[in-house]
Amino acid sequence: MADHSESALRIRSGCVTPEPPPELIARLSNRRRSLSRQQIVDGILHGDRAVLAQAITLIESSRAADRELAEQIIEDCLPHSGNSIRVGITGVPGAGKSSVIERLGAYLTGEAGQKVAVLAIDPSSQLSGGSILGDKTRMTSLASSEMAFIRPSPSRGALGGVAQRTREAMLLCEAAGYSNILVETVGAGQSETAVHEMVDFFLLITLTGAGDELQGMKRGVMELADLVAINKADGANLAAAERARNEAANALHYFPRPANGWTPRALACSAQTGKGIAELWNCVLEYTGLTKASGWFSVNRKNQTRRWMHELIEQGLQQRFESHAAIRKRLESLEQDVMEGRITSFRAARMLLEMYSGAKPSGTR
Ligand code: GDP
Repeated sequence: MADHSESALRIRSGCVTPEPPPELIARLSNRRRSLSRQQIVDGILHGDRAVLAQAITLIESSRAADRELAEQIIEDCLPHSGNSIRVGITGVPGAGKSSVIERLGAYLTGEAGQKVAVLAIDPSSQLSGGSILGDKTRMTSLASSEMAFIRPSPSRGALGGVAQRTREAMLLCEAAGYSNILVETVGAGQSETAVHEMVDFFLLITLTGAGDELQGMKRGVMELADLVAINKADGANLAAAERARNEAANALHYFPRPANGWTPRALACSAQTGKGIAELWNCVLEYTGLTKASGWFSVNRKNQTRRWMHELIEQGLQQRFESHAAIRKRLESLEQDVMEGRITSFRAARMLLEMYSGAKPSGTR
């Protein structure tokens, strides 16, 4: 916990949780060392935000001992998790994701009296070292609410690993009584698919007058969306937002109807004025009501856990393959052979796989 440059807690200055002042970090760090597995689990189940934050830090740690303890904690919390609505939120930078989450969070923690956890997956922090979601003050008022828990994106590792850690953090948040989990990501590529794979409902936040390239980027994402919210429907932008809503609603008709029986919708909202925020959440509730009644809700979650298991197997196999001593020795030269046309990709792949599984590689002397 001492090195915060490498920590998932870095960058976001606006989050009260879990970016405590240094003296508190030192205290938490000591507490963490002295807390047993049982104490951490009890703390989580009692909704202790500081303990929850520590447990997530364990999840994000690359130390083997931390990882082991984290896995035990997750296992203990698993029977208490799952009782939530998981909502994925995406949109290009500037669309207003954090502003909408702030408004929605205030609505849920205020009028609805419910707890909200906000997690994030930000692949930009791995690619560029900077963070699209994180490097500004965000959600300051929600972060100060007792009913909210905000956790920035894990900053280390490839997307698969980051998604895995967020997924595990989500389970702990549920065990801590957060009945609404919002998982935010940037509208840039594969991270949406990763988030879509871990949530019940997927929300795309978009804008009027976004350039063609942004529209292009949205197309694939739009297919995943259960709801498209045109944000900044306020002031002079109100009429344009209404038009954009109609266009989005029309565009949604062209996608194949999803298997869950839900017809994706579009609405106009404003994080600034609060317009459409209650409507947005009612849409989520309507969706969960419908899919729970049809059984889709639980079937979808079960399928997600099954696919997650396969994903973990793939990741594990890939890691083992790449760290296998014999493979490491041969991989580069075989890559060269393939590129120079001395051997086919197929044969090279087969040789490496046979090498990995311990069989005598065919085609070698
Ligand atoms: P993010 O990058 O998607 O998280 O977007 P932000 O929430 O940081 O918002 C980007 C900018 O748009 C900020 O300057 C916000 O104040 C502004 N903004 C967000 N929502 C609204 C809205 O509903 N109306 C208006 N007029 N501005 C907004």
